[in-house]
Amino acid sequence: MQTLRASDCGLSIALLSPAILEVIDTLNKAGYEAYIVGGGVRDLMLGLHPKDFDAVTNATPSQIRDTFGRRCRIIGRRFELAHVFIGREMIEVATFRAPPKKAQTSAMGMVLRDNAWGTIKQDFSRRDFSINAMYYQPLKDTIFDFCHSYDDIKQQKLKLLGDPVQRFEEDPVRMLRVLRFAAKLGFEIDEAMLKVLVPEMTVLLREVSPHRLYDESQKMFSAGHLTELLPLLIEYQVWQQLFADVPPHVSTFIERAAINTDQRIKQGKSINPAFFYAVLLWEPYLERVELLKEKGLSDVDARTQAGMDVLRRQALRTAIPRYSEHFIREVWEMQPRLISPRTRQIPALSTHARFRAAYDFLYLRENAGATDTHGMGQWWHEYQDLSTDQKEKVIQKYNRQLIRDKRKQQANPDAIVNDVKVHMDDGDDVVLSTVAEQARKKRSSFSSKSARVAAEIDSSLEHAVNRPDKKVVDANHPITRRRRKVREQFQVEMGRST
Ligand code: ATP
Ligand code: MG
Repeated sequence: MQTLRASDCGLSIALLSPAILEVIDTLNKAGYEAYIVGGGVRDLMLGLHPKDFDAVTNATPSQIRDTFGRRCRIIGRRFELAHVFIGREMIEVATFRAPPKKAQTSAMGMVLRDNAWGTIKQDFSRRDFSINAMYYQPLKDTIFDFCHSYDDIKQQKLKLLGDPVQRFEEDPVRMLRVLRFAAKLGFEIDEAMLKVLVPEMTVLLREVSPHRLYDESQKMFSAGHLTELLPLLIEYQVWQQLFADVPPHVSTFIERAAINTDQRIKQGKSINPAFFYAVLLWEPYLERVELLKEKGLSDVDARTQAGMDVLRRQALRTAIPRYSEHFIREVWEMQPRLISPRTRQIPALSTHARFRAAYDFLYLRENAGATDTHGMGQWWHEYQDLSTDQKEKVIQKYNRQLIRDKRKQQANPDAIVNDVKVHMDDGDDVVLSTVAEQARKKRSSFSSKSARVAAEIDSSLEHAVNRPDKKVVDANHPITRRRRKVREQFQVEMGRST
C-alpha cells in the first residue's frame, strides 16, 4: 500500500462538494474512519467532473443512521448501504466489506448477499477495478493506494481486481461496468478480462435481476458516451442479453439518437432514458404492428397491442418502470398523429405533454432517412418557431394540401397519396387523450380476437425470450386482461368502490 499526497495528484478540497465534505467530517467527528472512494477520486485525477461522490466508512449502516438521523436512509438487501441527504445532494455511504461467505453465493457463483463488514484492506479487494479502489481522506490530503491504482490511471488501463472469471461470476454486472468505463474513459481493457468476456460469460447477465439491469442501462444511457458504448455492447455480445428483441446493429436512427443523447449530457441538459428505449425498441415495435395487422387486427388495435407486447417482453430483461412504459407508448402512438394530424388538432397537439418528445423522435427518424414521415418532422420543426398568425397560415396551407390530396385520391383511387388524406373529412374537434386513457378505453373495448391473435404470436415468438424459469405473461394472463373499473368522482371522494 502506498500513501499519496492528494494535492500532488491534482485533488483538493476546493474540487469537492460541500455535501461530501460534511459527510466525511461528521463521520470523523463521531469517531469513524471515512473516505471518498470510487468514481469521485478517479474522475478528479483525470481532470473530469465527477457525476457524484461516494463515501466509505468503518461505521455499519445502523451506526451511519445513528450519526445522521433523519437525513439517512438505509437501502438495499443484497448490498446494504446508506443514503445520506445533505441539502439537495445525496451521498452514498458504504461500509467496508469483507469477502462474501460461500453460503451467500448462488450455484453459478453469484453473490446473493454482500453484507459482511470488514476492514479497509479487505474492502479494497472487493471493489471492481483498480482505478476505482483509491481512498481519499480530504481533511488529511492523503490517498491510500493499495494496488497501483494511480499507475493504472496514468497508463489508462482498466484492470479488474482478482481473478476475472470469479469476479464476473460473483457479479455479472461488472461486465457492463467494464464496457461503460472503457467507453467513458477511453481506457484499454486489460487482456485478462478480454479473454473471458465471451458469450458463455455474458449469458450470466440473465441471472441478474431485471430491476438492477434497468438501473445499469440507465447509467449506460446517461454516461455521455453512448456512441462509444453501443459498438462495445455488440462486440462483446452483451447487447443480446439486455435487448433480446433488438437486432445487434447500430442503425442510423439509433446512432443519431445516441449522438443526440451524448450531446445533451455534454451541454448539461437532462435526458430521459425512456426516450432511448423508445428508439431501441422502435423496429421491434413496427415489426410487431405489421405481424398483428397481418393476423387481422385493425391498425389502431395492432399499435396498442404491439406497444404492450414489446415492452412486456423487454421487461423480462430490464424492468422498465410503469411511468417510463407510458412515456414510450405515448411517443410511439403519437407518431402517426404527428405525421397526419387532423387540421383542427394541430394547435392542441403542439401543446400535448408528450409533444416535445414525440416530435424529437419524429425529427430524428426523418433525419435518419425515414421517408414514411412525409417531411412532417421538418414541418413541425418549423411550425414551432412561427408566430400565432403564421401558424394559422401554415395550418390553412396544410388543409388546402389535404383537400388537394383527397381530390386526387377520388379521381384516381389507386394513386398513392400522402397518409394525411385519411383524416380529411374528420373535421370535428378531437380531444387529445393520453396513452393511459387510450389504453383504458382499449382494454374495455378490446375484442377477444386481439387477445387471441396476440397470444398466438406470443407463443411463436417465445424462443427469443426463452427463460425456462420465468413464464411469459401472455395476452390471456389476468394481468393483461384486467379491466379497470371506471369510478365516478363522487364515488372516489366518498371512498366507495362500486
Ligand atoms: P460513476 O459513479 O462515475 O458511474 P463509480 O466508479 O463511482 O462510477 P458507482 O456505481 O458510483 O461507480 O460505485 C462506487 C464504487 O463502488 C465504484 O467505484 C467501485 O469501487 C464500487 N463498486 C460499484 N459497483 C461495484 C461492483 N458491482 N463490484 C465491485 N465494486 C463495485
Ligand atoms: Mg459514483
